[in-house]
Amino acid sequence: MDVSYILNLLGEDREEYFGAVAPPIMQTSNFAFSKVSALRAAFDNEKQAHLYTRGNNPTVEILRKKIAALAGAEDALILGSGAAAMATAVIASVQQGDHIICVRKPYSWTEKLCRIILKRFGVETTFVDGLTTESYTDAVKANTKLFILESPNTFTFEIQDIRALASFAKGKGITTIIDNTYASPLGQRCIEMGIDIEVHSASKYLNGHSDIVAGVIIGSHERLGAIYKSEFMNLGAIISPNDAWLMLRGLRTLPIRLRQIGETTEKVAAFLKAHPAVRSILYAWDADSPQIALARQQMNWGGGLFSIHLATDDISPVEKFCEALKYFKMAVSWGGHESLIMPACAFYPISYEGTRTYPADMVRLYIGLEDAEVLINDLKQALSCIV
Ligand SMILES: *Cc1c(COP(=O)(O)O)cnc(C)c1O
Repeated sequence: MDVSYILNLLGEDREEYFGAVAPPIMQTSNFAFSKVSALRAAFDNEKQAHLYTRGNNPTVEILRKKIAALAGAEDALILGSGAAAMATAVIASVQQGDHIICVRKPYSWTEKLCRIILKRFGVETTFVDGLTTESYTDAVKANTKLFILESPNTFTFEIQDIRALASFAKGKGITTIIDNTYASPLGQRCIEMGIDIEVHSASKYLNGHSDIVAGVIIGSHERLGAIYKSEFMNLGAIISPNDAWLMLRGLRTLPIRLRQIGETTEKVAAFLKAHPAVRSILYAWDADSPQIALARQQMNWGGGLFSIHLATDDISPVEKFCEALKYFKMAVSWGGHESLIMPACAFYPISYEGTRTYPADMVRLYIGLEDAEVLINDLKQALSCIV
């Protein structure tokens, strides 16, 4: 795969727009025709034609080609958020009476989509731990139509055996969808491992600058064609041409951002692992992680996210630690240039009783593009709140 070609040349017809190096933002809803035959042809092939921006837009189309090529797939659809991408792909894959098997603790809105919305329409979901392939295969019923994977997830970082699950599902005619946001299309080659549909929140690494919300669905012409002409067009959760342009700009630096983030994350994680104020670390790329062999087999890099358990049982020192950090911003989301921290205790009231999913000592970190030394020093001074 020639990533340089994909990021710099693919999909860009510069002679169509005065040789401009940066493509134009085609800020238009509508496209006009001078011949009925041309209008008819556009209706016939709306996914590729320029007819109406809910269906396709030239600025968005450049992104579609690049994202598909980066993932080694035939096509991609770009949506207004990662949640919209997941909802659109999942709804397109099931009907009333069907059964879904989804990994436990996926992204919260994926879980709500299955547990609340799809249930209203007669689609049942079983959540499994995904630590063994059998956790999925043992849960299969006659009406199981879809496996949802998220590997790793983005708080506790458990992983699933992508090749094994994709191959089992293929044999049974079960569709597979993976949320590959953690690793990015470059960091984990899901389509090549046999997954049918790959979904990302492009608000994270693909855009990479914390200035837009977007999502992508990646797959074959056949699968995306079916999604396009029904759920994609009907739900209409598109990206604007302006945001597509920003995402194109962010995408140009994807490989160097990933490289830098991966390297810095290894250094920061090693520092924290050895620090007395840190009880333990949850990091997919940690040499002592119980799933490290599988992680190295199916991922090309370790990512920029991990969680730690601080050496305290009280909320107050955790709050002090988070508030003492200068470079790490306290915020949701991740994948941008700035390092972030997300304390689990923010999910519940101050009276932690020890029964929640994530204990009060748990904090998620995202490593951005700052220097490793700067981040380590920032953590060092803030950890003095703990010990
Ligand atoms: C952020 C995120 C989403 C949702 O994406 P939005 O762009 O915020 O809608 C879905 N899955 C994962 C793993 C995420 O991190």
